[in-house]
Amino acid sequence: MILIGYWTTGPDSEYPDPKNLMNSEFYKKNWKIKSQLTAYIKSGKPCNFYRGFSSCRICGKILGSHERTDGTYIWPDQLEHYILEHNVLLPQKFIDYVMTKEAWPHFTIDDSFWLDWAKTNS
Ligand SMILES: [Zn+2]
Repeated sequence: MILIGYWTTGPDSEYPDPKNLMNSEFYKKNWKIKSQLTAYIKSGKPCNFYRGFSSCRICGKILGSHERTDGTYIWPDQLEHYILEHNVLLPQKFIDYVMTKEAWPHFTIDDSFWLDWAKTNS
């Protein structure tokens, strides 16, 4: 899985500082991307629960204590906070991936198991 949305924890951290990625002009021009991206991020399946909570690296708000995933990417819970409140950019590759995806969730439904069971039990 591809990790995104992890931010610096201090001077020795290799992760980026979200303060350097704030771009309100981009989201003003691309409001549709902003709403679709944040909806997608919120809809990820919760996983990897931790004991502590993380806090926003910009305003200090307490955020989640787990991660979310769609099976391809993995990101911290409430990553949308950085986009909604601080207009932090995410990689264009991830934006393209989200914007070209069909409505989430999108699954192929196989009802044969259920029908087979029903035929022999009803
Ligand atoms: Zn914040």
